[in-house]
This record gives sequence, structure tokens and C-alpha cells, in this order.
Amino acid sequence: MLSEFDLIKQFFKRERPGRADLGIGDDCALLTPTPGRQLAISSDMLVEDRHFFKDADPFMLGHKSLAVNLSDLAAMGARPLGFTLALALPAADPVWLAGFSRGLFALADAHDCELIGGDTTKGPLNICITVFGELAPGHALRRDAAQAGDDIWISGTLGDARLALAGYWKELALPDEDHAQAAQRMHMPAPRVALGLALAAQPIARAALDISDGLVGDLGHILAASRVGATLDADALPAGPVLARQEQALRRRFTLAGGDDYELCFTAPVSNRTAVLGAGRISGTPVTRVGRIDAEAGLRFVDAQGAPLDMKLSGWDHFS
Ligand code: ADP
Ligand code: MG
Repeated sequence: MLSEFDLIKQFFKRERPGRADLGIGDDCALLTPTPGRQLAISSDMLVEDRHFFKDADPFMLGHKSLAVNLSDLAAMGARPLGFTLALALPAADPVWLAGFSRGLFALADAHDCELIGGDTTKGPLNICITVFGELAPGHALRRDAAQAGDDIWISGTLGDARLALAGYWKELALPDEDHAQAAQRMHMPAPRVALGLALAAQPIARAALDISDGLVGDLGHILAASRVGATLDADALPAGPVLARQEQALRRRFTLAGGDDYELCFTAPVSNRTAVLGAGRISGTPVTRVGRIDAEAGLRFVDAQGAPLDMKLSGWDHFS
């Protein structure tokens, strides 16, 4: 049976030079921030049966646990530095731990983000990661920075993760191949770190967030914080490849109020359109313009012809 310390040593402590002055093993990790930079810090917790199914694949769970955290850094325009991992495990299962740590470190290494510490305890499976990043002061893509007249943009595509969930819940029948493709989006989200960095560089964008609970609900946070409204073109929203093959009503519903997308929604002045497209290009991330910020409060929808649409949609809320 693995002890707590064997477990940490075997699966989480790595013998390689890192960015931290002191990593796993002492009471605290020590990290020296780049002079003149601001720290960006965020935590996200994943709970069994809430955020993932019992018996979820450990490799994908390792990936997703870090991905949702890196997505928050991306949405702020911060460069990842390191992260801590607080883990409650029902048992020290080496097979599970090997898969989990492989998925975790594959993504961590891709973003040069070092595991610098954490906590390990026995309990119902619960994964809490805190990430640390840095950015130039004044360049953070804050939710309160949108201005009337700004364009609204979306990275990548929306709705395939929600479509996969609908498949698991048997809300609709999908061919196996389609479901597998959509489920990949749900289990292995790609945090848009490179795009976030490019958008924060000038900065090109004003406000940004990552879409975890559906575009409508999440955009609502920008509108509330910035005291503005918006008009979205429901038919301009980029649907995931599987959702794009479904009928229009479902496409609109899942692109607007899906969940688990981890794409960025951001606003930028009209004069920065070329710069936004350039940021998409250099980061290898598709970007689509989907609407505009209005001085008038509230969220309105139009179709491709600009005709108003009447839609009642809301975001995901864990307590409703
Ligand atoms: P303390 O009792 O001071 O909280 P612990 O005994 O819990 O320290 O942890 C020992 C060391 O291992 C610490 O440096 C801690 O940051 C690290 N650690 C514990 N659990 C994990 C984990 N799941 N991943 C990475 N580091 C961890
Ligand atoms: Mg501890």
C-alpha cells in the first residue's frame, strides 16, 4: 500500500530543474516573479458526479483538471508559471494515479507550467488546482472593461461538449462516431493560452472571460461588470463540428447556452479588427466576430438578416 509521501514522490514530484526556487517537499514552494509583472491567480475544483462521471478516464481527468485552470489564465491574458494540486482520493490506486499524472503533466509541459506543491488526503475524489501566472500591469483582460461599440468575439467553436452531455444523458441519439468526437471536446478542452497572451499584448482586446457555463450566462458577467448590454448574432456563432450537423434550433441552443466549452469570449474596439484576426493567426486559434456591445442594458439576439429573435436562455448554475 502506497503511503501519502510515496504517492507524492512517485507520481507528482519530478526530478528536473524547474522555474520555482523551491518546489515540492517543503512547507511552501518558493517562486520569484519576473520583476515588474503582476501575478494572476485562480483556483478551480472538480468534484466527482458534479464535474465528471464516476469512473472517468484518469488521463483525461488529469488533463481537464489543469485545462480549466489554464483557461482562466488565458481569459486574463496571463502567462502560466506554476500550479498547486490539492487532491482527495478514495484510495491510493497506482493505475489511476499513473494515468492522472500523465494527463496532468502532458498539458503542464505543453504550457511550461510547473507543479510546485499541493496537498493529498483520503476522501471522495476531489481535485482542486490553483494556477499562478503573470502579466504586464494594466494589460489584464478584465470583465469590467467592455465598452459600448466594441465587437464581441469568440475563439474556436461552441456547443460540442454540451452535445456530448446530451448524448450521455440520452436527451438525443447520436451516432457513436459523432458522440465520440463531441465527447473529446468535453473531456479534453484546449485552453486558449496563446490567444489570451496575444490579445493582452497591446492590449488588443478589452474585456474577456472563458466560457465554462454557456455563452449567454458568461457574457452576462461581462455585461454586468462593465454596465453595458449586447446584441448577439445567433447565426454567426461558430458551432462545433458535430453540432454544426444538427438542426438550427439545437445549434442555437447549445452554442448560446451549452457549457464546458472553455473558449474565450472577448470584446475589442472595432478599430482592432485586423489586430484580433492577427492574434488569432499567430496563436493558431480561429476567432469569430459574433456581436457588439451596446450602451443599452440587456442581451438581444438577431438572426443572420439582423431580425430580432425571441430567445429565453440562461447559463449553467450549480445551485438552481
Ligand atoms: P504539510 O503537512 O506541510 O501541508 P504535506 O505533508 O501535506 O505538507 O506535503 C508535503 C509536500 O508535498 C509539500 O511540499 C506539498 O506542497 C507537497 N504535496 C502534497 N500533496 C501534493 C500533490 N498532490 N501534488 C503536489 N505536491 C504535493
Ligand atoms: Mg498538507
